[in-house]
Amino acid sequence: ATPAALVAGTGAGAKAGILVRDIEALERAARVTAVVFDKTGTLTAGRPALVAAEAVDGDTARLLALAASVERGSEHPLAHAIVEAAEAQGLAIPAAASIRADPGEGVVGEVDGLKVAIGSVRMLEEAGAHTAPIEPMLARHAAEGRTAVAVSEGRRARGVLAFADAPRPSAAAAVGRLARQGIQVIMLTGDSAEAAAPIARAVGIERVEAGARPADKLAAIQRLKAEGAQVAMVGDGVNDAPALAAADLGIAMGGGADVALESAGVALLRPDPELVSGALALSRRSVATIR
Ligand code: ADP
Ligand code: MG
Repeated sequence: ATPAALVAGTGAGAKAGILVRDIEALERAARVTAVVFDKTGTLTAGRPALVAAEAVDGDTARLLALAASVERGSEHPLAHAIVEAAEAQGLAIPAAASIRADPGEGVVGEVDGLKVAIGSVRMLEEAGAHTAPIEPMLARHAAEGRTAVAVSEGRRARGVLAFADAPRPSAAAAVGRLARQGIQVIMLTGDSAEAAAPIARAVGIERVEAGARPADKLAAIQRLKAEGAQVAMVGDGVNDAPALAAADLGIAMGGGADVALESAGVALLRPDPELVSGALALSRRSVATIR
């Protein structure tokens, strides 16, 4: 079979905002039976709005300034929201040293000689903080469907920041189109099950796997493949890279992290979930032409 139709397919894709790495990726796209979506930044706008800052000692300015300090260099969507909020409030953001990001968990750094951690309870525990004071706060915000992260300074838990992130405008239509094509759609997120549920409901996804660290995302893809599915993974983050590489087809969302792009066979030029169903339909048309 001549690959001419496939090459034509990639040309049409580029015009639509879909870049296919090579012919093999296009052929694999045509056989996809399951699409796994990351949540934050992929199904959601990835422009989370800070909706609550709750400090254990009432000092929300210090809470936000500390968080912004260690998040300043991070490319995570929550990091952008935190730094923006701190700047909008005119807070002095202290300098942080030895910053280390743990994808899917959070960030830790040193501010004024104390370790500052932001992210999951696990992240704070690893940094040696007592998390008891903030656990009920986290649970309360999660129960309201918000993404909540905790902040610690030294051994003290400082408080909690809660965010709301809306689904992308085309996410529900994209999920509907895939479902009508007979494709199984799954959400795979590092966020909590409570925060994932309202987004899943809004976009029409029934199967959700939450609390997934990068290695858990990878394992979930491998499990689906072992069940016989031809799996496409759609993601934007550093935390998605192993899963993107392990999937039969990795699809990197436009505007995401570079490492996500490098791990994918398809790159979307715009952060538009409908380009996912578009890419699969395009690949099937192209492959059908040569068969
Ligand atoms: P998703 O899989 O939906 O894209 P992530 O794995 O990126 O979500 O994030 C999952 C959770 O990890 C967040 O809800 C947060 O608790 C924590 N987290 C990850 N990165 C950061 C960060 N830079 N700052 C704060 N929290 C973070
Ligand atoms: Mg993401």
